[in-house]
Amino acid sequence: MDQPRLRFAPSPTGALHIGGVRTALYNYLLAKKYNGTFILRIEDTDQTRYVPGAEEYIVEALEWCGITPDEGPGSGGPHAPYRQSERREIYQEYARKLVENGQAYFAFDTPEELDARREEEKAKGNHSFMYGQHTRLEMKNSLSLAADEVQKLIEGGFPYTIRLLVPEQEEVLINDLIRGDVHFNTSELDDKVLLKADGLPTYHLANVVDDHLMEISHVVRGEEWLPSTAHHVLLYKAFGWSPPLFAHLPLILKPVGSGKLSKRDGKKLGIPVFPLSWKGATEEESFDGFRESGFSPAALLNFLAFLGWNPGTEQEIFSLQELVQTFSIDHIGHSGSRFDYDKALWFNQQYIIATPNEDLSAAVRPILEEKGHHPSENFLNTFVGLFKERVHRYSEFWDQGYYFFEPVREYESKPIRKKWNPERADVLNELLDKLEALDVFSPETIEAATDEFLSRKGLGHGNVLPFFRIGLAGTMKGPAVFDMMSLMGKKLAIDRLRKAWPVFDQLVQKA
Ligand code: GLU
Repeated sequence: MDQPRLRFAPSPTGALHIGGVRTALYNYLLAKKYNGTFILRIEDTDQTRYVPGAEEYIVEALEWCGITPDEGPGSGGPHAPYRQSERREIYQEYARKLVENGQAYFAFDTPEELDARREEEKAKGNHSFMYGQHTRLEMKNSLSLAADEVQKLIEGGFPYTIRLLVPEQEEVLINDLIRGDVHFNTSELDDKVLLKADGLPTYHLANVVDDHLMEISHVVRGEEWLPSTAHHVLLYKAFGWSPPLFAHLPLILKPVGSGKLSKRDGKKLGIPVFPLSWKGATEEESFDGFRESGFSPAALLNFLAFLGWNPGTEQEIFSLQELVQTFSIDHIGHSGSRFDYDKALWFNQQYIIATPNEDLSAAVRPILEEKGHHPSENFLNTFVGLFKERVHRYSEFWDQGYYFFEPVREYESKPIRKKWNPERADVLNELLDKLEALDVFSPETIEAATDEFLSRKGLGHGNVLPFFRIGLAGTMKGPAVFDMMSLMGKKLAIDRLRKAWPVFDQLVQKA
């Protein structure tokens, strides 16, 4: 393949949904695989749907994921500007060209007239009025009106749109790289508005003009755009341009039930479906992000790569570089992929386990600092090392290991009630005295001293470790006890344990 040019062309209508990130990723991977170019184009011509902050969100999300565009609004490039609102004259010029060549026409129907016509049709039982080959001559446009009348309307400043003149009874063939041949007949297609009365293009015109001018070789986008592609193919033909190659990606499906994953599903299930958190005007419109939920961007990309593609082997863990090498259109599936959040957690866990402690520390430090804790580098490296096999997300380092920084919030009472009796405190304190005398307080020295003590007393680990564990952490879960004690340090560990025994006494009395 010659160096391809692929674009991600989101509309800034809100936070970028995770499906959009997958589309961006697939475009990026195909571009990079063949040493091509990955372009970001902001499709912001629909003023009514424009949401401030959405473009910044898109840029930040791509950057966080590490799939930064080679050309785009921020980075510039040979086809700048990359924001469609800054290209309006270009679209106007091309729309006019189509009118001049008889491929498009001026339409003067007002929104009220169009509504009235729709109502009229509805009354006749026809619920989908189509402005097209069967109706265009009954409407107010440059095909139905006399030339001098058209001239008068335009000169008089009467608002008009430009519509595509869809040819009659033609087959439109889309050779989709994923779906194979897809046929449409032009009798199903309406005369789409290309240029709106406000002088701005519709998605269809802007998209086709830009894909052509920006020399896009492959259009890779969600399946929901497949029906529009029929109009796009007609537009390429009308301009006399050869169309790019098309690939329409399968849907991402809800985790449970059927249908397409929606932003509401995230809220309903308490899981992120956006890359970054988004603060909307209301709580309803605000969403959690994968980043803030404690995911590594590399793990998220790995997960997204598999939502619709598979390498055809058993390998599941791929770095971005490996994805670039392995990814191919032939292994993208036709059918929708279920958004399996547990699988996302599994990917993230694999990444956490494989990440060096120093790098994990850097990811976890901000979470601890937000809680007001500023551990030393050494402390944090050991801490993340103790927990890395037990967590799925960065945030769980805090959830599971908070007691290294703050007092125990609650003691798991069941094992205590079952096994504790107040006489035990004496023997445990005797052991603590011994541990307090250690010069070096490492997992090994603590273990050796404990073992020596226990064998002298004829006791086993089971007589001590559960109480140490709950006394230090409040829970039976967690890293090895001697590792915990060593990291907490002699003073904190021993003080905490001595203070835990009276609490255990109370728990037993309450039972
Ligand atoms: N602006 C469209 C969107 O929001 C782009 C579709 C396409 O890639 O052509 O998804």
